Amino acid sequence: MSSPKKTGSRPGARSDPAARASVEKRRSAKLTPEQRIGVLEKQLADSQAHLAAANRELDHASSELQISAAKLRESQEVTRSTRDALKISLDRETLALAFAEIGTSEFDVKSSMVRSSDMSLRLFGIQREQADLSFDKLLESLHPEDRPKFSDALAQCLNGTGNLDIEYRVAGADGSFRWLRTKGDALLGLDGDPIKVLWVTDDVSQRKDMDARVRFLAHHDLLTGLPNRTLFQDRVQQALAAAKRMQSLVALLFIDLDRFKYVNDSFGHRIGDILLQTVAARLRKCVRETDTVCRHAGDEYLIVLSALRDPSEAAMVAKKVLAIFDEVFLLESHEVRMSASVGISVYPDDGQTMEDLIRNADAAMYHSKKGGHNRFEFFTPELNAPVAERLVLANQLRRAIEDHHLVLHYQPQFDTATNRLMGAEALVRWNHADRGLLFPDSFIALAEESDIIHLIGEWVLNEACRQIAEWQGRNLKVVPVAINFSAFQFRRSSLVQGVADAFSRHGVKAHQLEIELTENAIMQDPKETAKTLDQLHEMGVSLSIDDFGTGYSSLNYLKRFPIDKLKIDRNFIEDLPHDLNDSAIVHAIINLAKSLRMIVIAEGVETKEQLDFLRALSCDGYQGYFGGRPLEAERFAVLLS
Ligand code: C2E
Ligand code: MG
Ligand code: MG
Repeated sequence: MSSPKKTGSRPGARSDPAARASVEKRRSAKLTPEQRIGVLEKQLADSQAHLAAANRELDHASSELQISAAKLRESQEVTRSTRDALKISLDRETLALAFAEIGTSEFDVKSSMVRSSDMSLRLFGIQREQADLSFDKLLESLHPEDRPKFSDALAQCLNGTGNLDIEYRVAGADGSFRWLRTKGDALLGLDGDPIKVLWVTDDVSQRKDMDARVRFLAHHDLLTGLPNRTLFQDRVQQALAAAKRMQSLVALLFIDLDRFKYVNDSFGHRIGDILLQTVAARLRKCVRETDTVCRHAGDEYLIVLSALRDPSEAAMVAKKVLAIFDEVFLLESHEVRMSASVGISVYPDDGQTMEDLIRNADAAMYHSKKGGHNRFEFFTPELNAPVAERLVLANQLRRAIEDHHLVLHYQPQFDTATNRLMGAEALVRWNHADRGLLFPDSFIALAEESDIIHLIGEWVLNEACRQIAEWQGRNLKVVPVAINFSAFQFRRSSLVQGVADAFSRHGVKAHQLEIELTENAIMQDPKETAKTLDQLHEMGVSLSIDDFGTGYSSLNYLKRFPIDKLKIDRNFIEDLPHDLNDSAIVHAIINLAKSLRMIVIAEGVETKEQLDFLRALSCDGYQGYFGGRPLEAERFAVLLS
């Protein structure tokens, strides 16, 4: 419930005071002085109440103002700190870009002008005064080949079909090129069209170098810098694919250093490493650009020779490989003489895959090493027979010698001019109980892996002497008989004595026996061989070089050895007289033999045409199916009557 007085006072507190004062004046005109004092007192009280209310409102307003001011101050504070933070962050970014050596640039679409930061200018190698320059001008600092890359990427970025993210080269002050990477994006206007392209650029040369180094290391041997097996495999695969298409040959050379362990043990691993590096460098020079040399493992190297027409081309490279060891190796202060053994396998005959070719070249290398150092050998299938099978065969062979299951067949040799029988070559055969008559190609290599080759050698020597003596006893017109000696036999000091014993045992004269040996057998250890050959020669035994032209021999040695005959390998005879190269080689060998005063005999003569050709070149003798196949002793005896 509200009192009327109170109710009445309210509107008064709010009504116009002048109007109220005139109302009071009209009322007080009729009042007594006491009454008027009361009214005045009341009016005073009212005014005081108004004043108090006004004061209160003022207080309220002022406190609100204070709050607002505080809030304002606060918000100003926030703005300042935001601004400061923004500045710090911008500074940091600039600093970071500067530290990271990242340049920033801004391309203006309308004017095609580029504005670049100092770092950008430095990266592009542009003067500072040219902070604003046309895009075309900027392109001029790029490698000419990479300019289209940059403008294409920018165009794609502008038409929204790609990003600006490219690597390219710029020329450095010294003329070399550095690699830069630029990444950027377009800034679109309200209408969605690009107005600017902003990009950042940094120098990635180091990373590029590193990438290249990592790629190199992944494919090369750390020590020698030669391709490693991974890269080699790739190259072999390519060579094999090409050979399949072109019907050409691929040869794989397996090279193993002889006595490398000795170098390592005597001079230490550092010297060993230098040796491996020097060998690598020399090997690289032996081959064509298209051929690959690789370090296989330890002291083993592989070479793949592609697009060959004939295996003899691989033999030529093998000779070059062996020749790199002629020069002494100077390893720091040590002078070291080295040699190597080489095995060769040829696609497609010796294997279809890289693995097969490596395995077979390895087997040939192993065999070559056992035959003495510093030589090469081609793979032959029997080298690869499983170990067990080879063991069985070796045992059977050993027994076959004791049980007289070996026989000699005799092939006639004729004088080219007169067609007179001038000699015979004794060729060994094995009468195998289950496999029939075996030819030397299927068991000599096996025999050479052990002492069996010496047993065979001894048997052949004695059997040939026995046969000569037997023919002599029947008064036949005996001709000199040639026997084949393996390279291994030449390393036996008892060889000369063995020959002398055989002569005296059977009553045979030295001039009735000839010894054939290959070029490689002679060249293995020329000084030692020379001694043996001299002794045999002094005894009166005639010496022939067999398969001449297929091995490697130094003409220098050839003239110093007491060699009586050269036998031209049948490979050169096969395509006579049509093959011009072979004709030239045969001609040259005949001339060589004549100038060294040696007798020259052609092997493998099968046709009259070949014989006529040889006769025209004054080749002394011939041997081959045209004149007669190898025959059993009894059948050969007919020719001696
Ligand atoms: P070689 O000493 O060059 O012997 C010639 C080979 O060619 C013989 O093969 C012979 O049969 C063959 N031949 C002869 N004329 C012709 C021809 O007109 N056309 C063709 N296509 N071939 C012809 P064989 O008897 O199989 O001997 C192969 C090799 O085995 C010999 O080559 C020789 O290196 C080795 N050999 C033979 N007998 C012995 C031996 O008693 N001891 C040693 N260590 N090796 C031997
Ligand atoms: Mg022979
Ligand atoms: Mg021969």
